[in-house]
Amino acid sequence: MKTIDKFTFGVGDRFAHQAEAQLRAFQQLADQGVPVTPVWNKSNREHLIVGSEPADTRAAADAAVAHLGWNSDYLLDADHINLETVDRYLPHCDFYTIDVADDIGTPASPGEIETFIEGHPELIGTITIEGIATPLEITREDVEKTARQFLKACELAGRIYRHIADEKGSEDFIAEVSMDETDDPQTPPEMLVILAAIADQGFPIQTIAPKFTGRFNKGVDYVGDISRFEQEFNDDLAVIAHAVKAYGLPGTLKLSVHSGSDKFSIYDPIRRALARTGAGLHIKTAGTSWLEELIGLAEAGGEALDLAKKIYVTALEKKEALCEPYATVIDVDDSKLPSAEEVNGWTSDHYTGALRHDQGNPAYNQHFRQLLHVGFKVAAQLSDTYLDALRANAGVIGKNVTENIYQRHMVPLFLGEEAPLQG
Ligand SMILES: [Zn+2]
Repeated sequence: MKTIDKFTFGVGDRFAHQAEAQLRAFQQLADQGVPVTPVWNKSNREHLIVGSEPADTRAAADAAVAHLGWNSDYLLDADHINLETVDRYLPHCDFYTIDVADDIGTPASPGEIETFIEGHPELIGTITIEGIATPLEITREDVEKTARQFLKACELAGRIYRHIADEKGSEDFIAEVSMDETDDPQTPPEMLVILAAIADQGFPIQTIAPKFTGRFNKGVDYVGDISRFEQEFNDDLAVIAHAVKAYGLPGTLKLSVHSGSDKFSIYDPIRRALARTGAGLHIKTAGTSWLEELIGLAEAGGEALDLAKKIYVTALEKKEALCEPYATVIDVDDSKLPSAEEVNGWTSDHYTGALRHDQGNPAYNQHFRQLLHVGFKVAAQLSDTYLDALRANAGVIGKNVTENIYQRHMVPLFLGEEAPLQG
């Protein structure tokens, strides 16, 4: 089995042109004394929209690593795969986000539930967990209910793991189980039952991505009760540490936060929890480097700015179709979207001010940002026109890509204002 490093950070690169600029941010962070392993993630949905292949992501990452002389580990994430979509990733990826959210709620049979409960008498009663002030009180009915809801999903995770291992002919990869793309957050007691069920499947899970409380819209800040999130995050860390010991799960098992990018207001609570517990973290961001490409084009001015405007105007025309696949993870208020005429009259500063995620800038518009975030299909359809513009403006774009990841994400998450986290 491959074990995961303590800190890993997922980046998306829709058009496979920013791997080097992204990697520079990891270099800057390593220079500050915090080693974080880059993970390039791309879902099947993104590949289908862009018309790209996992081999492209692999080639871009390998080239960036070679060019910058990065000699630590790096990973390629087959993001949100299932049995139907995993195969084309197999030759290229060493990190698999096994998505079983669709099987949550598929009821396990009474016999299966009975066997599970008999195998886990320790789950019933008063359970003291180091790091959680009040012991968990779990009844037999609670375990039954959670098992009915999650047992099939955990079993499927095991099946997908074994499929990957068989097809690759090796277990030299990272396995994550994700349950985030569902409606209800999983509570810490549910997490404990889920980890017991995953342990029964006997595969070396390295990261688990639950659904947390609150909304994780793509590319914009967290919406929800921050103190509730903090409580839940801390309790999840404690439950994981407990389950590692109780069930012999890998000692490297850690939480994975599918952040959808830019959840700035929960970075402080996350960093505090990691500093206090010494726990590791995988945090996945979405393909917001694509937005930095647009910012770089707008900043360059002239034809590049015109192209950035044209992409917005087209995205506005095709809004319904572009938003549809992302309906549950964006909140775009149509009345707050600038019209085509307005944007066509914008300066470079106005465009970058509206798009760049700086909540202190009065020009910042999260609706404009979210629409463009899901609007990458428009750029994909422009094909060489767009890719040529990326190449012609690589310098200004790369600077924005690196700065965004380093300053807005890594500094608050890993460095903070006090002491940096210990890698
Ligand atoms: Zn996810």
